[in-house]
Amino acid sequence: VSQVIINVSDVGADARSAFVHQLSYASDAIEGIEKSRSEIVITVSDDAVDAVRERAQALLGKLVAETREIPTTVWFESAPDADYPAEDVFPEMLARDWVVEFTPGLIGVGGPFQSLVDRFEAGMMRWAGEHDAVEYTYPDLVSIESLKRVHYLEGFPAHVVFTTRLRKNLDAIHEFASTIAHDDSCLSDTYLAQPSHTLKTAVCLHVYDHFQDRTIDLDRPLYITTKGRCKRDESVNMRTAERLLDFLMREFVFIGREDWVLKQRMDLMERAREIVEQLGLRARIVSAGDPFYSEDDALKDTEQTRDPQKYELLAYLPATDSEIAIGSFNFHGEFLAQTFNIHSQTGEPVYTGCVGFGMERCIYAFVSQVGIQGALDALGRA
Ligand SMILES: [Zn+2]
Repeated sequence: VSQVIINVSDVGADARSAFVHQLSYASDAIEGIEKSRSEIVITVSDDAVDAVRERAQALLGKLVAETREIPTTVWFESAPDADYPAEDVFPEMLARDWVVEFTPGLIGVGGPFQSLVDRFEAGMMRWAGEHDAVEYTYPDLVSIESLKRVHYLEGFPAHVVFTTRLRKNLDAIHEFASTIAHDDSCLSDTYLAQPSHTLKTAVCLHVYDHFQDRTIDLDRPLYITTKGRCKRDESVNMRTAERLLDFLMREFVFIGREDWVLKQRMDLMERAREIVEQLGLRARIVSAGDPFYSEDDALKDTEQTRDPQKYELLAYLPATDSEIAIGSFNFHGEFLAQTFNIHSQTGEPVYTGCVGFGMERCIYAFVSQVGIQGALDALGRA
């Protein structure tokens, strides 16, 4: 393998992150992408070096020209003076069986890692209890129709993991059954049906579908919480517990008047800040672009509101001197309520928002900052 190095020192942060994201799907020849502030190092098979360099440079040029760099507003920042572990804690977590890695992006967790997840979950369920939140458990599969309505498939098609089944044809099913043990070529559309569902990419999607065509009493707005496993294919960017193909997410969803929805979002931003401060972590809450649904005419109204559509909770990863988003605080304006025809008794507009936390990332960022022993101490274990 060889390396292709692309200089990005003059490239804005939004274009740079779009570049790393899109590059990961650009070619099968790309085996890895390492990023620093000034350059992107692409590991690539020898025979594809020139083609990948050319494609990467063209992609970067296009993104620099197209990307509207959105200035970031820092809502909260905590940077305590601490001695952080210099090494990535992931190998040690693997060695202790806190984490098992099947392939990059597919992990299982247990032991102290699981205990930390449970503890964080319990804290979030206390928040939910204070708001009389209603908890729902939804399926892992979401219909392609629903995803199309929020324009997810146009915005992030490469993230999506499609599901399929065998075609309803007894001869083909028998043929498949007698072939699969020795020949994978039957995993093709000769035997597999056209997908009608995907695995869900966010756990809040079912909530809007659930309340589709319903009338909401705005004096009794909806505060819902749900948890589930999301799937996002991040290609060669999947590594450690930082970017996973399959991860656990807890979300809170609000459906009501604009000021009420914004207040609930702000309340959870305050809660997140309290936790960061209590634990003495290094993290920031900043405004961000990139809502989970893509640009649409209906969105233009909300773009003009004074409140950013999205804030992210970014945690510091000392080993790589980088940050990961471990939570997001989203305001969708009227877009999703209109899309799913959720309306009010009085005809007043209905607004929605959601707040989500990626559980494995939260715990990984925590252990990355406090170290293995710090995590055990936090659990009260020797
Ligand atoms: Zn959401």
